Amino acid sequence: MLVSEETLNEIKAEILAKTPPSADITEIEFEGPEVAVYSRNPQILVDNGDLVKNLAKDLRKRIVIRSDPSIRKSEKEAKRIVEELVPAEAEVTSIQFDPNIGEILIEAVKPGLVIGKNGATLRTLTSETFWRPNVSRTPPLESRIIKTVREILFKNSEERKKILRKIGRRIHRRQLFPTEWVRITALGGYREVGRSSTLLRTPESSILIDCGVNVGKNTQKDMFPRLDALEFSIENLDAVIITHAHLDHCGFLPYLYKYGYEGPVYTTKATSNMMTLLQIDYLDVAKKEGKLLPYSSKDVRNLVLHTIPLNYGEVTDISPDVRLTLHNAGHILGSAIVHLHIGNGLYNIAVAQDFKFRQTNLLDPAVSKFPRLEALLMESTYGNPQDVMPSNVDAENQLREIINNTLNRGGKVLIPVLAVGRAQELQIVIENLISKNLIPPVPVYLDGMISEATAVTTCHPEYLSRKLRDKIFHAGQNPFLAECFHKVEGKEERDKIILGDPCIIMATSGMLTGGPSVEYFEKLSGDAKNSIVFVSYQGEGSLGRKIQKNVNEITVIKEGHAKIVRIEMEVHTVIGFSGHSDRKELLAYARKVSPRPEKLFLIHGEKSKCISLASTLHKMLKTETKAPDVLETIRLC
Ligand SMILES: [Zn+2]
Repeated sequence: MLVSEETLNEIKAEILAKTPPSADITEIEFEGPEVAVYSRNPQILVDNGDLVKNLAKDLRKRIVIRSDPSIRKSEKEAKRIVEELVPAEAEVTSIQFDPNIGEILIEAVKPGLVIGKNGATLRTLTSETFWRPNVSRTPPLESRIIKTVREILFKNSEERKKILRKIGRRIHRRQLFPTEWVRITALGGYREVGRSSTLLRTPESSILIDCGVNVGKNTQKDMFPRLDALEFSIENLDAVIITHAHLDHCGFLPYLYKYGYEGPVYTTKATSNMMTLLQIDYLDVAKKEGKLLPYSSKDVRNLVLHTIPLNYGEVTDISPDVRLTLHNAGHILGSAIVHLHIGNGLYNIAVAQDFKFRQTNLLDPAVSKFPRLEALLMESTYGNPQDVMPSNVDAENQLREIINNTLNRGGKVLIPVLAVGRAQELQIVIENLISKNLIPPVPVYLDGMISEATAVTTCHPEYLSRKLRDKIFHAGQNPFLAECFHKVEGKEERDKIILGDPCIIMATSGMLTGGPSVEYFEKLSGDAKNSIVFVSYQGEGSLGRKIQKNVNEITVIKEGHAKIVRIEMEVHTVIGFSGHSDRKELLAYARKVSPRPEKLFLIHGEKSKCISLASTLHKMLKTETKAPDVLETIRLC
């Protein structure tokens, strides 16, 4: 700790030397990766943009200017000023104060009008209230989870401040060991899909990328990342980075807090909200099914307090010799490709866990340009030569035909989906088919966590594809708010739907490993009029994978009891909607990624797929390729 105290003192001295005394700086502290400067005359610093910019450049740190508490207007007065300055058309829905860091949280239907032209209104707000405005969008659909996350952060603001301070001191500690090598250890999700986790180490730092569960497995040895590997130690862990909110990438994360981890988690804001939702749901489902519960909701809360959200493209110091940047991965809302710049120019690595290298209805394709790149880790979920997906149009036509045939014969269409990602992509597709009269206007029921995930999606439109954003903001058409969608509230309503008229049902979980999709399947499978449509990857050993094999009957384990279910319904698989790259897109990505890396690692796929892709890419690009196994450690440089 002494070492970081020394660093902080140096930073303080430099800031004080380079700012005018009239700024009246009262405190300088680390706030996670940023340096917070408290001032009794913050306007001098804020108005002089170059001063702060140059300071940040000299110190190579991000700087945030905050007002000293003594000069802030009272909350009542500040609220009045906000109400006066912000035009009524902005439709402000809530104003909250966080005195610990001097922020006003303003939620508005049209946040752009709170910000004003080139931030003019915000600047006036700051100079008149001496509070720092933090503006967010009122979700058009109410999201329970975003409310919960905000409440956790708000109620524990003082604790959060302490946590960020501690994290900051650790990030900015003086480097003790020169960065002479970089190693990665495969802890999970290598030659398999599920429990993704990679440990990256330098002599100075230890970083974990993803910490997932394999929901299809039942024993501790196969379900969770191999944190028992000798290379891993929770005490030495500097940071955890989460690529996206799917449970196979973040489902085990709260466990780290249960076992004493006190460091930060870096991810995008959308992932942070989505993963909290999925972790809480995971606990609920596992509890109901009598499965192993590796952590509790207390650990999830602790995780929220330690999460540092980053925007795409924002370069952040996460340890003395590692800088992180997140880039769009095109897989699900907020999903990221992780780029790490190690040892001040020594080595650069990108981790492309689940990514989509194709334009989808929901998202733009994955980023493939990096400032520097020596090693690339990329997924291989669809890495076999036969894993070629039809075009978006073909997939939509195939789905349209299945829906029309099923509805015309008086049946129901069941689509098991992951709550986050495919569900929203399909909502757009189905809404489009209905609005163009290409399928009958039947109700589309959303069961499980889907409507909540959709609400989170509508709250973070900045992550959506350009085209969809234009549609929502400029044409005023938000497909997620269409009339056809109905949220299913509980078992009673579910039973009514099962007995009711033809309809489309989207339900979680996507692989029928639990949740309402299993219940619908059980009750709808005996009727040949109905159809089940798989639109996402079905994990080995999952109920979904077994049903896909077109068997006549199947054993469903429910609440510890085995039940035999006859399958009369039609079973379809439409693969074009996947959020993963198919074989062609994977090859294209490896070919187009720039600069071209020296080493390629194929991860996140069944063994044969990782190996097949490694071999093809080696022949194609003449680069070193490898498909590491779980528990392997590889020296990168
Ligand atoms: Zn995923």
